[in-house]
Amino acid sequence: MPDLMQCSLKITSIMGKSYIQISFLIGLNLMKYPSGERFKLTFLAALFTALCSISVPSLAGNVILIIGDGMDDHQITIARNYLVGSRGKLTLDQLPLRSTAQVLTVDDVSSDRPIYVADSANSATSIASGVATSIGRVGTSASDDKDLANIVELAQQQGIKSGIVSTASITDATPSAFYAHVNTRDCENPKMMVQAETYYKTIADCSPDLKSNGGLGSISEQLVDSDIHVALGGGMQHFVQVAEGSDQTVLQLAEKAEYQVVTRATELNNNGSGRLLGLFSPGTMPVKWRGEDGRVAEKPIPSLLNRLHWTLGSVTYPEPMDCEDNPEYAGMPSLALMTETALSRLTGGDSGADSFFLMIESASIDKQSHLRKACGSIGELQQLDEALDLALEFAKLHPDTLVLVTADHGQAAQLVPERTLFIDIPVPVYSPGYLARINTVEGEIMGVNYATNNFLSEEHTGVNVPLLSNAVGQGLVPAMVTQPEIFDIIKSHLLK
Ligand SMILES: [Zn+2]
Repeated sequence: MPDLMQCSLKITSIMGKSYIQISFLIGLNLMKYPSGERFKLTFLAALFTALCSISVPSLAGNVILIIGDGMDDHQITIARNYLVGSRGKLTLDQLPLRSTAQVLTVDDVSSDRPIYVADSANSATSIASGVATSIGRVGTSASDDKDLANIVELAQQQGIKSGIVSTASITDATPSAFYAHVNTRDCENPKMMVQAETYYKTIADCSPDLKSNGGLGSISEQLVDSDIHVALGGGMQHFVQVAEGSDQTVLQLAEKAEYQVVTRATELNNNGSGRLLGLFSPGTMPVKWRGEDGRVAEKPIPSLLNRLHWTLGSVTYPEPMDCEDNPEYAGMPSLALMTETALSRLTGGDSGADSFFLMIESASIDKQSHLRKACGSIGELQQLDEALDLALEFAKLHPDTLVLVTADHGQAAQLVPERTLFIDIPVPVYSPGYLARINTVEGEIMGVNYATNNFLSEEHTGVNVPLLSNAVGQGLVPAMVTQPEIFDIIKSHLLK
């Protein structure tokens, strides 16, 4: 038997805590040695084994969570086909770990009753707080309206900084789930707290969350009161009103809370490490792309005869279209620029800085899909991919950075044959919904269909959503999780 000395290092998880275990394995053929030496060698081997098998707590790591709102596999495939071709790979396609998340929603009255299609408020709450709740709720539980502790609050207890970046209003459902607690997502500003707004079928009643009723106030007020270190996105309209019980606007209170407030892309730079609030548009930030001349998906038009009987006449499909730059996007900071700024602020430009949590949302994959604007969703998904490039670059330099990419729920867009499979049958066959026929880089036409309803806005769908990770997620991210388990994954890597 040859002499052997082997060192191994493994990360184990005990009671939810990570430990680095360093072990030396020593195998000696003692018979080779004189008997006087055998005793010393036996003693040394025992000593090494004892010393080297101890477990020491590991340091906490960074977490960058990227959420594509409504980014199901249909949206990813549509964007991939357009941006890099059907055989190409987006950056998110190249992440080494691919998992799936089951989106969970419950009824607000009977919280044991499942609802099969989510909204962004309840699904972001699942990710931020680890609890499935009901549609429209932000950081509060179904039925009993209790505040749910979120990852930002838990991180702050350990002195870990957090940042929020979104192309929506920074007070919109997804970002607010990481710092606010309200019974409905409509409570975005002091005015909306007293002026009921319609959301889905219900009339929003924000009164339980008024400070005068013992609540935490509107979402924008809660952002100012929160421990968020950097918040970048849209939503200035929610900060210009006088705060409840104050003679100052929410924006003035933000400055008082030592936020540096910026409103233009040119003000974003990598200087400084203090608190930063960037509000670059009144509401949702304009998207990068739109359909040719602002076109959206259109209904195929049946001939008069076809309207008399479905087997008769003909149908006219919408003309194919290109995607083009959206003029309203001019001057907006890209999601990548906001990501870069947030990373710089959170680390204070110091590569050895403490760990942090950063949530980045590409919001309008969803919002453009509601409006049947396929080009808008594609441009927004490209923004997400560029932000991911930056996150991965950062993770290369800071190897303990867990990068997760996921979606909150599915969306309406479906990739369908751009003309029906039954084109040769002498009957006009067409979708009852809306169709965008988009020219791709491969010189082909891609059919994107929207048909969840006959109303002005498409609806979400209840499909599982992707959960992707860099290699740091190895051993942390199972092949299939429920959405609240994403919270556990983040927590186990971020917290000490
Ligand atoms: Zn939506």
